[in-house]
Amino acid sequence: MLGGSSVNRRAYDIVIVGAGIVGAACAAECAQEGMLVAVVEAACVGGGATGAGMGHILVVDDSEALFALTYYSRSLWDQLAEELPPECEFQRYGTIWIASEDEDMELLKRKEQFYRARGVAVQILDERALAEAEPNLRKGLRGGLLVVADSVVYPPCAAQFLLERAQARGAKIFFGQPALQCEAQGVRLRDGSLIPADVIVIATGTWASELVPALPIRKRKGHLAITERYPDFVRHQLVEVGYTKSTHAHEADAVAFNVQPRPTGQVLIGSSRQYTTDDSHVDHKTLARMLQRACTYLPRLAELMIIRTWTGFRATTPDNLPLIGPIPGHERLYLATGHEGLGITTSLGTAKLLTAHLLKRSPPISLEPYLPARMENPVWLSASR
Ligand SMILES: Cc1cc2nc3c(=O)[nH]c(=O)nc-3n(C[C@H](O)[C@H](O)[C@H](O)COP(=O)(O)OP(=O)(O)OC[C@H]3O[C@@H](n4cnc5c(N)ncnc54)[C@H](O)[C@@H]3O)c2cc1C
Repeated sequence: MLGGSSVNRRAYDIVIVGAGIVGAACAAECAQEGMLVAVVEAACVGGGATGAGMGHILVVDDSEALFALTYYSRSLWDQLAEELPPECEFQRYGTIWIASEDEDMELLKRKEQFYRARGVAVQILDERALAEAEPNLRKGLRGGLLVVADSVVYPPCAAQFLLERAQARGAKIFFGQPALQCEAQGVRLRDGSLIPADVIVIATGTWASELVPALPIRKRKGHLAITERYPDFVRHQLVEVGYTKSTHAHEADAVAFNVQPRPTGQVLIGSSRQYTTDDSHVDHKTLARMLQRACTYLPRLAELMIIRTWTGFRATTPDNLPLIGPIPGHERLYLATGHEGLGITTSLGTAKLLTAHLLKRSPPISLEPYLPARMENPVWLSASR
């Protein structure tokens, strides 16, 4: 814990603000590369969206840029899987995208072609194969697309693991105080002390605009519910194929069927998206809509006991792509935020891209689509001191 009078006089190569999964992944990667790393966390590991998220690690076809980042990141999770301790609950369950109507089958086929053309292992399931794969789904669904290598993880433990990995490589973690300001010499904390550093990375998720006002980040609320233990009730992450309509709807509130088996036997039920509120309380109307939607796909879900419901906020950007890289005109001030509903998946890829840029190496995939420089808003660029 950073004490009130503590002033750290040694300059770090890099100070990362925020110990969610993105900050933790960046810390682990930078420390692995031999940088002297400090992490500043106002609360606790996973206290933000990381503790609220579903932990579905998936490849998406929303855009080429999101595909590239999710596909690359998923491969990094696969490489890391062997090293993750049991409490991270990493499982290769696969995702089944579900078509309930004929028109959804078109979406499903487009998805299949998109993935196949890019080397992603997928399998079309007809009505019968879908029912065999997931007996609790309602009868009469048209079919599904199984994305074989998608997985799940328990996000707060994964963030903790990454942070410990950073610490083992020499990183210093400062808990309990928010960073108030980014300055030329480093990060100023609430008690007035300075963490001196050459480079600052803002990985504070939805809070990023507190350090860089007018940053184009909006909060998007989501609800989740988890049941008692019902082993084998579902076997894959099940998502309605129209799900991405809700992730791209920038104004409307939306719910979609998105259910995950947990290794404990519990069933994790999502998901909702709301721009219209800052209130973190569970909104029972939205929760009810979300659960009703889920029951239309899994009718027996109505018989299961829900033991906890909660909410979290996703950090969204106007073009649905994260902000990774330096702020133009402030080459020592980096952003790693705006990951919306994919930050667990893309945390590892974000860390690799950020590190490659810092070390002036060629990136493993193009960084161009995620650079903050793509945004046209000079106001937020001049906001940091
Ligand atoms: C309901 C829901 C479901 C989701 N499901 C999935 C999913 O299935 N798969 C997936 O890939 N993603 C999912 N996500 C998205 C994912 O959870 C986020 O994208 C990810 O957790 C973002 O991580 P982060 O580290 O950027 O932010 P956060 O986890 O929010 O961490 C930011 C940290 O910064 C700290 N902080 C803030 N301000 C300061 C300051 N001034 N000084 C110091 N510290 C500060 C906070 O305390 C916090 O710990 C979901 C999100 C939600 C809400």
